[in-house]
Amino acid sequence: MKTNSKKDIRSMTKEQLRDFFVEKGDKAFRGNQVYEWLWQKSAHSFDGMTNVSKETRELLDANFVINHIKVDQMQRSKDGTIKNAVRLHDGLIVESVLIPTSKRTTACVSSQVGCSLDCKFCATARLKRMRNLNPDEIYDQVVAIDSQSKLYHNMPLSNIVFMGMGEPLMNYNNVLKAIDKITSPEGLGMSSKRITVSTSGVPKMIRKMADEKVKFKLAVSLHSAIDEIRTSIMPFNANFTLKDLRESLQYWYEQTKSRITYEYVVWQGINDSKKDVDALVDFCRFAPSKVNLIEYNPIDDGEFRQASNKAIEMYVNTLEDNGITVTVRRSRGKDIDAACGQLANKS
Ligand code: SF4
Repeated sequence: MKTNSKKDIRSMTKEQLRDFFVEKGDKAFRGNQVYEWLWQKSAHSFDGMTNVSKETRELLDANFVINHIKVDQMQRSKDGTIKNAVRLHDGLIVESVLIPTSKRTTACVSSQVGCSLDCKFCATARLKRMRNLNPDEIYDQVVAIDSQSKLYHNMPLSNIVFMGMGEPLMNYNNVLKAIDKITSPEGLGMSSKRITVSTSGVPKMIRKMADEKVKFKLAVSLHSAIDEIRTSIMPFNANFTLKDLRESLQYWYEQTKSRITYEYVVWQGINDSKKDVDALVDFCRFAPSKVNLIEYNPIDDGEFRQASNKAIEMYVNTLEDNGITVTVRRSRGKDIDAACGQLANKS
């Protein structure tokens, strides 16, 4: 594992960079120039900063590093989905995915190396959490996917979901800083309405986001609206109960007026009965919401198997009969293990 004792320049704010140059007897404006190279132009090296002098580049090189990610391996699925194995500066690997449709491309990005939560159906959970990603490491995943979107799909990246490895709300500050850069005109200038943070449901953090009136969308991986069942598949639910989650989501809606999406997989013998869908309908009544029923991708030959079409139909019909918007999401990139819950499946 290679480490570098020089400071990561992208951990500095623009003001700190301006101060650095002033301290070195240069103009504060130099800080703006370098900042633009680092974020808007995504420079990988100081040498590439062509409008700053050689002396400045040497000064930067003597004091800082740019800890850029590297796409180590790129796999392309038959359906156009791309999965990247992304190497971080300390040698750890995370994964990110580009999901294309005819009209748009979506980046699914990671927020942590591994995950501290323990969802039984998820490949990432087996890695355990090693560390949080820094804002620049999240930002770089988006930049890399934006380039792939232009190259392979002839359009810039249109949407981002935080649904890769890790629980984004367990790395809240860095995720927020990354979103700030992604949406800033000094970064990628993307609209926050095109960004969705998908959480397994951390009530305290949902309240915090609501208080901060964030502008991105919220999705919750619900998978069951019955405590006993949810705890059996998502054991942290024993601490963050559905009652707490529900109240935090009500609060979210009161503060933001932004509809919540529930991500939901129906598994055979686990949550495919009438009482499961009835509980979901009740849960959806607490705040305006819609349900995405996601096709499941087995991570091994274990206990989790996609429910029958009949069970999915029952979910769709019951939700629609109760006026709840529901979509059925077919999986993408299955052949390269890029589908939901599969990240890290073969790492
Ligand atoms: S589903 Fe999400 S929160 Fe649960 S273990 Fe996997 S990465 Fe973590």
